[in-house]
Amino acid sequence: MDLSGKKAIAIIGNGIAAVECVKALRQSGDDREIHVFGAGSLPPYNPMLTSYYAAGKIEYATMFPYGDSQGIFTDHGVILHLGAPVTKLSVKERTVTNAQGFTLSFDQCLIASGASPFIPPFPGSDGKNIYPMRTAEDAIRLKAALEKKPKKALVVGASMVGIKLVELFHHLGVAVCLADMAPRIFPLAAHPDCAAIIEERLRSMGVALRFSAGIEGVEARPEGGIQARFSDGGPPEEADLLMACIGVRANTGFIDRTEIEARQGILVDRYQRTSAPGVFAAGDCCMGLNLLTGESQVIGLLANARKQGRIAGLNMAGQEAAYTGEIPHNITHFMGMDFIGIGEVKDYTREEKRCDSTHYAQFFYRGDTLCGANMLDNLEDCGVIKNELVKQLL
Ligand SMILES: Cc1cc2nc3c(=O)[nH]c(=O)nc-3n(C[C@H](O)[C@H](O)[C@H](O)COP(=O)(O)OP(=O)(O)OC[C@H]3O[C@@H](n4cnc5c(N)ncnc54)[C@H](O)[C@@H]3O)c2cc1C
Repeated sequence: MDLSGKKAIAIIGNGIAAVECVKALRQSGDDREIHVFGAGSLPPYNPMLTSYYAAGKIEYATMFPYGDSQGIFTDHGVILHLGAPVTKLSVKERTVTNAQGFTLSFDQCLIASGASPFIPPFPGSDGKNIYPMRTAEDAIRLKAALEKKPKKALVVGASMVGIKLVELFHHLGVAVCLADMAPRIFPLAAHPDCAAIIEERLRSMGVALRFSAGIEGVEARPEGGIQARFSDGGPPEEADLLMACIGVRANTGFIDRTEIEARQGILVDRYQRTSAPGVFAAGDCCMGLNLLTGESQVIGLLANARKQGRIAGLNMAGQEAAYTGEIPHNITHFMGMDFIGIGEVKDYTREEKRCDSTHYAQFFYRGDTLCGANMLDNLEDCGVIKNELVKQLL
């Protein structure tokens, strides 16, 4: 089918940013044809919940914030093209083509293709028993692996995703080692003092930690499972499975970077417009304004993806809505702890600690201005601190 000449909207990606764009278009009275392209066939899922499903803590249906059918799209009159990734977006021809060879001519396009886990190309990186964790499909695969009752797991990447997997294995009684090339846990979000407390608590719960250890290679063991070598010169780590939580990359392989400007993600203005006329981008595939630094960066947060998707939809429908920016933050509950890392925890001129036997709070200032915070077990204060930061910056 080629819809040349017809006014159609193409949306690349079927995640949360895509849904919010569709909703905003229809709420604004836009009745053009909307075509959503999805690499996978499952309904939009919440990546934050995938590890809970794999652990058996939530039902399958709970992973899908808009329901476990495609109703959120079909109820809005969307035409779906699922199970085949978009392989080419041509700005010059104003077309989108997917892996099945289907081409659609578009009037406007939203790129909402999210991000994918990045596994560096170390020897053995493409072997069996190496698991990424992001999509609902990843969760289904991991759940199947867990049914084989592994005894030991290796989690590479001491990130927010990595710690969720540590929690999963600990909960299931599987011995777990957490490794990272960084010298501590949550290297981007936690101050060394706060990280040290978290690490001590994890060790006391039996989690093995291996820091300043970059993964160098993985071999399959004859008896099954893997053996991983690290740069710290220590003994290899043996495990039944390896979870790769090393980082993510924006899904932008289908764009021509001479047509659409991109760095770590697609560059957008405050209306979510890319450098190509009529082409917008939202969510983890694009950059957003970091209110603290004033720089553009990929902000991999669910609320940000929702916000950018909605703003893109409103502007595509001819309304005017602007993105004001975001303060990068991490709020994570794991192993009985609530960790909150907001804003800047490295580049500060003054710090202040308020700790007692049950609470830990550390605030960072540039001059007299609050620029970041770390908290443990203080979930209720988090919103207050974030609002305080935003108030200072807007
Ligand atoms: C384990 C985990 C925990 C997280 N925890 C938190 C948290 O605590 N708090 C928080 O705010 N955020 C968290 N996040 C981040 C949050 O989930 C993301 O920021 C958000 O889901 C991004 O939404 P999106 O729509 O931009 O992208 P995605 O959810 O990645 O959706 C993009 C969709 O596009 C599809 N796609 C990709 N390429 C193509 C293509 N070429 N053609 C067609 N379709 C394509 C993908 O298959 C995918 O379904 C977490 C993420 C993970 C993985």
